[in-house]
Amino acid sequence: MEIRVTGLTKHYVSEGRVVKALDGVDLTIPAKRIFTLLGPSGCGKTTLLRCIVGLETPDEGEIRIGGDVVWSRDQGIAVPTEKRGLGMVFQTYAIWPHMSVFDNVAYPLTVRGMPRAQIGAKVAEVLRFVQLAGFEDRPATRLSGGQQQRVALARALVAEPRVILFDEPLSNLDAKLREETRKELRRFMGQLDITAIYVTHDRVEALALSDSIAVMRAGRIVEIGTPRQIYFQARHRFVADFIGRANLIDATVRGHADGATQIACALGSLACAASDYAAGSPVTLCLRPEFLHVQGGAAPGPNVVHGTIEALDFVGEVNEAEIRVGDTLLLARTAPDAALAVGSQVSIRLAPEHCLLVAA
Ligand code: ATP
Repeated sequence: MEIRVTGLTKHYVSEGRVVKALDGVDLTIPAKRIFTLLGPSGCGKTTLLRCIVGLETPDEGEIRIGGDVVWSRDQGIAVPTEKRGLGMVFQTYAIWPHMSVFDNVAYPLTVRGMPRAQIGAKVAEVLRFVQLAGFEDRPATRLSGGQQQRVALARALVAEPRVILFDEPLSNLDAKLREETRKELRRFMGQLDITAIYVTHDRVEALALSDSIAVMRAGRIVEIGTPRQIYFQARHRFVADFIGRANLIDATVRGHADGATQIACALGSLACAASDYAAGSPVTLCLRPEFLHVQGGAAPGPNVVHGTIEALDFVGEVNEAEIRVGDTLLLARTAPDAALAVGSQVSIRLAPEHCLLVAA
């Protein structure tokens, strides 16, 4: 079910101050995909989700679900929350501790007055799906955090929603369980033919789970793309910085030659990934730490810069090196067994295709 949001604006008034939580959001969320709203705390992700659900009333714009207007400035609420065909999974599991797993999952069907036998069959099917068959009689509190979140997913799915919405569903889990649950969720969602909107401020979660990501900032959508497009071909400095570790360096475009864009920056003259910035444009050079090829010594060559290791942290699978090149400090990932030490002179080869230029 496609969701289309047009010109959506929402203000809150809090202690006499007006906060613009959504600032003219235009967005099409494609059917049967996992679409993530990603952005820093306070950028408006939850507000956008709550407007789609119908828990907040926007000030301006229109929301359509599957082509039907559910809210517009002119019509007001055209379709109420309970008729929008949505299932929700929240950060706090919102499952009822005094109820069994069965009763928790059955709840949306019970309130609709579905016959008991039919409820039993549907709950059994959805519990099998989330791999909780056999847990029917367990009090919901006697489950791990990950299992509780699967109960919440089962309860959202049992009513066969057209769209499922997740608001930071993994943020109460510890790091290892979060990773496991994220992988499970990806697998579950891959087996369902359903539209999902996923809200998070965790870039790894967004990259690993999503078909598309919309990066938000201050009530606006900055950029939309697949995880790989957002990571490797970001167009805005904010997005390049938010989606991963990045060295961001002010630069000026000199021109274009041999399928590369030539720039001047504090590291010198460099050939970068092709772009259509005009000569003279101010841009930002984005270098991901994993694409800096660091070698001991002062190797010559084009797109090679020289520096000194100022700090070296062993973090397990890689070393993180801080390398001073003139006035610039670059973060690089190097192999943990590389014979490099603090104080080593090094050469850093910058492959032009990994020298990404983004708007200044
Ligand atoms: P987080 O990741 O922290 O949940 P978010 O991106 O989901 O943040 P929102 O919760 O949508 O952001 O909030 C957007 C802005 O609106 C913030 O400045 C927030 O303080 C403000 N805001 C949200 N809800 C209310 C409210 N009920 N009353 C007043 N201001 C609010």
